[in-house]
Amino acid sequence: MSLPCRRDCCDCALNYVKFRFVEKKRIYLSPPCMAGREFALLKRAFDSNWIAPAGPDLGAFEQALAEYTGSQNVAVLSSGSAAIHLALMLLGVGPGDEVAVSSFTFAASANPVVYQGALPVFIDSETDTWNIDPQLFEEAIQERQRAGRKLKAVVAVHLYGMPCRIKEISDLCSRYEIALIEDAAEALGSAFEGRRAGTFGRMGILSFNGNKIITTSGGGALISDDADLIARARHLATQARDPAPYYQHSAIGYNYRMSNLAAAVGCGQLEQLDTFIKRRREIAVRYQQRLGKLPGVSFLKEPSREYFSNFWLSTMLLDPVQTGNVGWAEVMAALEQQNIESRPLWKPLHLQPVFKNCPAFVNGTAEGLFARGLCLPSGSQLSEAEQDQICEVVETVLSR
Ligand SMILES: *Cc1c(COP(=O)(O)O)cnc(C)c1O
Repeated sequence: MSLPCRRDCCDCALNYVKFRFVEKKRIYLSPPCMAGREFALLKRAFDSNWIAPAGPDLGAFEQALAEYTGSQNVAVLSSGSAAIHLALMLLGVGPGDEVAVSSFTFAASANPVVYQGALPVFIDSETDTWNIDPQLFEEAIQERQRAGRKLKAVVAVHLYGMPCRIKEISDLCSRYEIALIEDAAEALGSAFEGRRAGTFGRMGILSFNGNKIITTSGGGALISDDADLIARARHLATQARDPAPYYQHSAIGYNYRMSNLAAAVGCGQLEQLDTFIKRRREIAVRYQQRLGKLPGVSFLKEPSREYFSNFWLSTMLLDPVQTGNVGWAEVMAALEQQNIESRPLWKPLHLQPVFKNCPAFVNGTAEGLFARGLCLPSGSQLSEAEQDQICEVVETVLSR
């Protein structure tokens, strides 16, 4: 809402009172949580005049991310999308190539495939993790082979923080010689069998966009155990300058590097990541325990003990048969009335107008999830009282 004016007419005075005292504070889906040393580190970067372009905080953030994820090499970048774009470039993906992408995800997982002039081939989900279905992936590989084509890479997403069936996907990639890029934009800190999401593939990508579990206000990272790949990523991300005293270029470069100021914020955020994950997991459990009891309501859960999710967002499914046809739209509207943000699950990419001509291997899972699901507020600072308020709204709508 806009700020009311402070003139002394009745209307304005009333509006002012309403603004100050009546309107409830909005509860957001996943707002930034700057509770640690972010500002102190940012101020240190300012005071030392490391504003731009590079500076010591970039290296420090990369080092801290490498330690946290267990990846050998990290390049921090301007966004997660830039990281996917660089990963595809480094694999030599170009015009005429095909790249498999999870269909149930944000468009940013697939857009860079098109930037490279290649064709995304969408793969539907399985029901345990909601991520790329290994069986359908293998069908796609074989079908494309029969058509005389070959999938050059796959972008496998760990959506909402839940690790995909990474073992099976990774095995298929080795067997059919397909490069694995893990989109762990939503899954920083998640793990499979104790190994962090993003470290199974040839490369992994992270995002520090404003709504992610940690944020640098905007940013991303490319991670890999291959030092040469990450060195080349840094080169391409800084306009591909050859080592010469003057500006000389032997390749087309990009302006994709993270700024030193953003990295300083990232260092402060990363120190709190484990606390954020603990908190979001508690939030997920509280939703499951309270709302999961209602008829027709279910939640995405870790399928077995090998899976560890950061529960970036808690996601609720409504079965219309059992809820008497109450769906996400009614719940979303009721929450909005109380100034609470919620959002439907990702609309599958194979159903997006912009990708309508891309091949897709579909089993109906992602479409079903999109029809039935809603993301609930899951911010690291969401209080128990706020969560109770959210649950009450959901309970009221479902008991009508
Ligand atoms: C946020 C996100 C991205 C893109 O990250 P940006 O930093 O916003 O470019 C990619 N994939 C998924 C699944 C995301 O959620």
